[in-house]
Amino acid sequence: MFNALTANNHVISLLTNDVGPLPPGPYYCPVCRREVRYKNGSLRHPHFAHKIEEACHGQSEPESEDHLQAKLQLYEWLKRHQIQPNLERYYPSIRRRADLSFHVKGQHFVIEYQAADVSVQECAARTSDYRRLLIEPIWVWSSKRRRSFKHGEYSIHQSEWSTMRDTPSGRLIVLTYLDTAARSLQFLYPHATTSLSRSKASVEPYALASAFPSLLLQPPEPSFFLSVSKPQWLYQKQKWRFGRNHWRGKRDTAYLRSMFASNRSDIPFFPAEAGWPHLGMEALVSPPYVWQSWMLLYLQEHTKINQTFPASFVRHALSMCIEQGIFTERPFLYLPNRKEVMLEHYFHELKKVQLLIKERTHWKWGRPLYIPNSLNEAYERDKYWADRIW
Ligand SMILES: [Zn+2]
Repeated sequence: MFNALTANNHVISLLTNDVGPLPPGPYYCPVCRREVRYKNGSLRHPHFAHKIEEACHGQSEPESEDHLQAKLQLYEWLKRHQIQPNLERYYPSIRRRADLSFHVKGQHFVIEYQAADVSVQECAARTSDYRRLLIEPIWVWSSKRRRSFKHGEYSIHQSEWSTMRDTPSGRLIVLTYLDTAARSLQFLYPHATTSLSRSKASVEPYALASAFPSLLLQPPEPSFFLSVSKPQWLYQKQKWRFGRNHWRGKRDTAYLRSMFASNRSDIPFFPAEAGWPHLGMEALVSPPYVWQSWMLLYLQEHTKINQTFPASFVRHALSMCIEQGIFTERPFLYLPNRKEVMLEHYFHELKKVQLLIKERTHWKWGRPLYIPNSLNEAYERDKYWADRIW
C-alpha cells in the first residue's frame, strides 16, 4: 500500500508526498493500526507492507508489483483528467479498503483491481457492500490473468464472468483489464461461449496515455464488430459431436441424456438447430448445445405440431430446471435478466432456420424437430444450417 500513519497519526502517502524525505518511522497501517514496514527495494515500487502477514481486513493478500503499479498508473491517469481520486480509502462501515475511489457527476465509484485469484462469492460480497453505500464498484482485472488459445478462444474465470458488463448498445458484453506493462486498458468482448470457462472473444487495447476515464464508467463498443466465423463454429460443433465427452457427474448432461434416451438417441446426435452462438448464450453455465438441445426436446415433448405457445412456456420450464439444480445460471453482478436475453435471442435463431414460427405473441413449430441418425448426417445438417444462419 502507498498510505501509512506516523506515530502521531499523521497520514503519509508515497504518491502525494513529493516534498522530500519521509518522516521517521515507525509507520502504521491506517486500517488495522499494526506496524508496517517501508519497503524501497529494486523489485517493487516503494510501498508499505505489514510487518507480519497477518489478517488485516483492509487487505486480503500481500501486494504484488503488478497491483502497486496498477494503483499508481490508474491514480495518475485519473488525476491527469481532473478527476481527484482517493487512494486506498477505507470504508469502516463495510470494513473494506478500495484501491481507488472517485466521484463523477455526483456518483461515487471505487476501482477494484484484481490480480490474485478471488472467488465469485467474494466479488459478489464486495460489490453488494459498496452498493449498500451507494457506491458503484468497477472491476478491473490484471491482464496477466488472461490466457488465450487457438481459434480466438480465451479462458475466463467464473469470478471474471460475474463482473461482465454490457456495451452501450447492449449487443455485446465486455470485461475490463489493465496491462501494467503496456500501460493500457484492454477490453475483452466474448461473443461465443463454448464451455464453463472458455469463450471466443476479441480484445481491444486503449493506451492510458490517450484514453479517457469515461471508458471505465462505460466500456466502449469494439471498433469493428467481430463475430465468430462459420468455419470456426462448425469446427466447434464437430468437437461436440465427435470429441470425447465428459458427462460423468454432471446434472445437466445426465438429465439431457435421459431425454435423448426416450427418443432412442444420445447427446452427440443433438439436433442441428441446437448449439449455435447468439447474444445471451452465456446466461447458463452449460455449453449452448446442451441447454439448446434441452429446450428443443422439451418443446417437442410438451407441444403439438400445430399448437401455439408463449415464450413463457419455456421460461417456466427452465426456471424449474434451475431450481432443481439441473442448470446453473452464471452469477452476473451487472447483467440482470440474462436468461431473458438468452431465450429471446435463441427463439430468434430458431425463427431464422424456420424451426419455429412467430404468430403475434405466440410461437409454433414451422416443421417437426429432426434428430439425426448418425454423426455424419448430423454434421452435414450443421453445415446446411450454418449457411442459413451466417
Ligand atoms: Zn492493516
